[in-house]
Amino acid sequence: MNEFELIRRYFAVSPCAGRAPGVALGIGDDCALLAPAAGEQLAVSTDTLVEGVHFPADCDPFQLGQRALAVAASDLAAMGATPLGFTLALTLTQALPAWLEAFARGLDRMARACALALVGGDTTRGPLSLTLSVFGRLPAGQALRRDGAQAGDLLCVGGSLGDAAGALPLVLDQRQAPPELADPLLARYWAPQPQLALGQALRGRASAALDVSDGLLADCGHLARASGVALYVERERLPLSAPLLDLLGREAALACALAGGDDYRLAFTLPAEHWPALQAAFPEARVIGRAAAGEGVHLLDADGRERQPLALGYQHFGPSRD
Ligand code: ADP
Ligand code: MG
Repeated sequence: MNEFELIRRYFAVSPCAGRAPGVALGIGDDCALLAPAAGEQLAVSTDTLVEGVHFPADCDPFQLGQRALAVAASDLAAMGATPLGFTLALTLTQALPAWLEAFARGLDRMARACALALVGGDTTRGPLSLTLSVFGRLPAGQALRRDGAQAGDLLCVGGSLGDAAGALPLVLDQRQAPPELADPLLARYWAPQPQLALGQALRGRASAALDVSDGLLADCGHLARASGVALYVERERLPLSAPLLDLLGREAALACALAGGDDYRLAFTLPAEHWPALQAAFPEARVIGRAAAGEGVHLLDADGRERQPLALGYQHFGPSRD
């Protein structure tokens, strides 16, 4: 199978590569053509996943296809963008039909869940890695940026935290758990659902937002720095799922929620007047703290005392893990 057959068989004919609103030209020419409406801006983000770094060698290709796109699409959610399309740059050691078929199916599943059309890409030989670029549209000036939080805003998250970090030892076969605990946690690792509807609902309401990928405290640090505020996080208010609590107990579950990463939930600051309507529309969202004058991220105990976090989160070139 040559490169062109591969592209045609697994990607160009995929349902997610069909006609889609906002895509004037898809796979097959030198460029795709995207057509956001007048008065809209194009939101663009790229993510690379490398075998052995971002996913285990020999992982299930269907799961990998879903996860690769979910991780990328989460950035569109974090900006409040409406999905348009994505490109896939695929580097493969060899073209195995069974692997490609399952990968393309996983990708297509997530693409359709996110209303993202596959509009192009690149296919090369080399150590397995995936680079996905996602494109979304936004009314000009309405993107949810990291730099708008104001003292007095509520600090909120879009849903339970720590599940993917709790699943990681299961993913890596370092730990076993009964299916009723393992399955929901593994699903949160392999197929996180980008919070696209929440992001769009936050346009014109949230003062700042991002998606939690490196760990809540680390990502709150980015938001606090960009906005020039302090963020206070109340440990007791962090939403933890029942399977995570059952698997790990409360302290370890909290550690996953604070520093674990891979959550792909939105974290955002919100003027308090917007909270009741938001909570009604998104019952999984929670207030976990507030923004105040100052700087940095501060973790508060139930009694309001500040406590030192154990770890801050994942950095590729940071002092902690590399
Ligand atoms: P070029 O040589 O002009 O860069 P290619 O031969 O790499 O084009 O790709 C041909 C067409 O197939 C282009 O439209 C490209 O965007 C698309 N394409 C290549 N690889 C992929 C892929 N993995 N997934 C989706 N589309 C792809
Ligand atoms: Mg070309």
